[in-house]
Amino acid sequence: MLLRQEDSLLKHIFYKIDYEQDLGKEDLVCLLAVENREDLARLYNVADRVRQKYVGEEIHLRGLIEFSNYCRKNCNYCGIRRGNRKIKRYRMTVEEILDTVSVAEELGYRTVVLQSGEDMYFTVDKLAELTRRIKRQADVAVTLSIGERSREEYERLHEAGADRFLLRFETSNRELYDRLHPDSNYDERMKILAWLKEIGYQVGSGVMIGLPGQTIEDLALDILKFKELDLDMVGVGPYICHEETPLAGHANGTVEMTFKVIALTRIVTRYAHIPATTALATLRPADGREEALQLGANVVMPNVTPAKYRALYELYPSKVCVREEAAQCRDCMGGRILSLGRPISQDYGHSFRKMAQESKENLIFTKC
Ligand code: SAH
Ligand code: SF4
Repeated sequence: MLLRQEDSLLKHIFYKIDYEQDLGKEDLVCLLAVENREDLARLYNVADRVRQKYVGEEIHLRGLIEFSNYCRKNCNYCGIRRGNRKIKRYRMTVEEILDTVSVAEELGYRTVVLQSGEDMYFTVDKLAELTRRIKRQADVAVTLSIGERSREEYERLHEAGADRFLLRFETSNRELYDRLHPDSNYDERMKILAWLKEIGYQVGSGVMIGLPGQTIEDLALDILKFKELDLDMVGVGPYICHEETPLAGHANGTVEMTFKVIALTRIVTRYAHIPATTALATLRPADGREEALQLGANVVMPNVTPAKYRALYELYPSKVCVREEAAQCRDCMGGRILSLGRPISQDYGHSFRKMAQESKENLIFTKC
């Protein structure tokens, strides 16, 4: 009897998805709890259809440059937190970063993502100058992922030419957020995400799946938060335990739950760019990213960091591709994408959400 009730509930939720009705928290919790193969296959198929309809077939490649592993923060899950005295710290020079951008451009990437710990050696002046030089030298969009700064600093970096900014809110459970972040808080993070949008960045955020103490209700609320924030990009990846952190000994997030969150994020946000993350590939090297690309994801971020630094950027252990050079990553990813029969975008891969909004506004304007 109970089974029948669940069946009819699921049927009703899939009906809502087919007719593009909004899903609520209870609908999402119900889908996140699904475990049988048939229902999962159905969920993933529907998400893939939504992906085709709203963001098309193309896969967008972003070249990831991990330019410094110094960090002033002590996030409890992260392997490069300042309290980890066991890792060797590095920072790339401006010339090294510019050379790496050239490599990325030669490999055909039309976006570079500059990511680092919160390294205050890179003052806003240095970062603004770096951004300007990249924009002068290369025909690429620039995404920054450098953590928390002042509003003025974000403004200056946007003026210097940075197009996008990635800052995950990690979890929408305020208490869990505050417990995981000894030197930041949830309201601060949300305030920054609002600033980034007001300043005019294309904004990406996201969460980790399987954080200690996180529930599926939390994940359902995370997905609704993505929609509420009207994000251009949403990155979700499994939490992977690092032994040199206060969370040592905790279980990793699972690949299956990450797939479900990606699929539902696609269904709920429709237009967001969603990467198949490296963390996912780390837990399932054989086909984690390929699977994600078949159930909602449309972006991959191949690593272009020079090989000598890669292993040192250890947010979590056993990260994939730490021994490869950029060209090997490009060939490997190219082959994997080819096997899916999907084209690689030759474009910058700007925000679909913004484009959709602008064309809607133009339509209203024309009608007026
Ligand atoms: N310092 C910047 C950028 C680097 S961290 C920032 O914090 O925004 C980038 C992302 O790595 C974080 O947002 C977090 O979601 C992810 N991350 C950190 N530690 C991780 C871990 N142990 N497992 C999985 N993802 C992790
Ligand atoms: Fe630093 Fe980012 Fe890691 Fe937090 S998640 S410790 S801010 S690198």
